[in-house]
Amino acid sequence: MQVAIIGAGPAGAAAAYELKKQGKEVIVFEKEATLGGRTHTYRSDSIQYDTGAGFFTNFYPTLQNYISTLGLDRNVIPLERSVQLVAAQQTATYRFGSISSFWRLPFLNVFDKLKMMSHTAGLSINRQQYDLADIDKLAQFDEYSIADYSRKFMNEKIYQYCIRPGIEPFWYFSCENVSSAMVTALQSRAADAKFFTFSNGMDVICQSLLKDIQVFYKAPIEDIEITPQQKVAITLEQYNQRLLFDAVVLACPAKATWRIVQFLPPRHVTDFQRQFIREQQYVSNIHATYMVSSEEVKKLPAYLYPCGDHAPEMGAIVLHRKKHPQSAHIPDGKELVSIYLSHLGSQAILYLSEDMSYQKIWQLARQFCPDLPAIAAPIHITKRPDAIPLHKVGRFVKAAAFQEVQRAPIVFAGDYLGIATVEGAMRTGIRAAEILR
Ligand SMILES: Cc1cc2nc3c(=O)[nH]c(=O)nc-3n(C[C@H](O)[C@H](O)[C@H](O)COP(=O)(O)OP(=O)(O)OC[C@H]3O[C@@H](n4cnc5c(N)ncnc54)[C@H](O)[C@@H]3O)c2cc1C
Repeated sequence: MQVAIIGAGPAGAAAAYELKKQGKEVIVFEKEATLGGRTHTYRSDSIQYDTGAGFFTNFYPTLQNYISTLGLDRNVIPLERSVQLVAAQQTATYRFGSISSFWRLPFLNVFDKLKMMSHTAGLSINRQQYDLADIDKLAQFDEYSIADYSRKFMNEKIYQYCIRPGIEPFWYFSCENVSSAMVTALQSRAADAKFFTFSNGMDVICQSLLKDIQVFYKAPIEDIEITPQQKVAITLEQYNQRLLFDAVVLACPAKATWRIVQFLPPRHVTDFQRQFIREQQYVSNIHATYMVSSEEVKKLPAYLYPCGDHAPEMGAIVLHRKKHPQSAHIPDGKELVSIYLSHLGSQAILYLSEDMSYQKIWQLARQFCPDLPAIAAPIHITKRPDAIPLHKVGRFVKAAAFQEVQRAPIVFAGDYLGIATVEGAMRTGIRAAEILR
């Protein structure tokens, strides 16, 4: 059986690897010149850092399993767990998983802290019910927005100072707009959360999964056809080739997927599937990186996250050397500072020129953290108008139903069918491979 995979991000790479393991012939088509999709790692002579996904956790079992199978253990490095929470009037340090640092947070009173701790303990005791990347489990808790859930089961202050800073700096959407299913899953693992990255870049996982698989680079697929013999035909304009497959896994974001399948008849893509793919919305993100001297930022922590209603345009500020000296390649005596903007902040800057973007973003960063130096050398900017699929309330339920009706020869994968994490995307790829078994 010959299978085409469209997209070489984590979903496509996992699907390709699993299908190859099943003995299928697999060819991957990738729009860009590089692998990894939103796990892309920027590399130049003396600099390397991740432009998209930058870490994974101890509750990413699929990825952990691939790390062992692919022999990547020696590249895994643990990351710093302390973050600085920045509110309008006050800042505080919080160490993920540490009760004592939680207890010292100045934003909450003792009753708030007890409430948060008892709620978290309840979820943590029942943690087997939750799984951040299992769509069927997430669908069971897909009832409220994160904001409504937090206000109902905890309170406004806990929402503003604990829940939002645990979500928004990572996903760039607003907690008002997304499902609380992800919070229950995250909170159930809060007590023992650990974070890791790869010393040679996050895209190493896609590179390793695709090592023995043929990839056509710079091969954006615009449409597919089903022939009268029920083969899937893919035309590669630039290679002047028309290739026939028994099945296809579409592992690209929802908008690209829609462009490819929109004219296929309902017997191949049902009305429900069409509607689901078409209605997916994304939030944008801009990630701009600058180099400064290490000396100038020596007092700053590895991560700065806004909390309360402070700096809604800011996602996070990350200092790479502070995260871990090997989490990026940085010239001696220098530090790389990454600024991630929220959807709101990105919207104002997406279409500005590169120079203007660098200027505005550094200004925003210095308003948020006045201890940053006045001058910083721009290194690289990544603008993603469609960075993260919006996990609206009810979307996990629909995504679970979507998975149930998937069938050959056209199968879908990608984080918009699960949760926007490397683990979530890979699980959709593995599920796609299962459907084609
Ligand atoms: C700024 C940022 C930070 C993140 N941080 C983290 C993190 O720290 N940890 C974490 O777990 N997750 C993180 N994520 C989320 C994670 O990166 C994504 O959930 C994951 O990469 C999604 O994988 P995917 O395979 O579904 O899509 P993608 O990674 O987007 O891969 C899709 C691939 O399809 C290709 N493609 C698109 N259209 C076509 C076409 N027409 N023809 C051929 N190919 C096409 C694309 O070029 C791309 O390579 C982050 C995301 C962003 C944007």
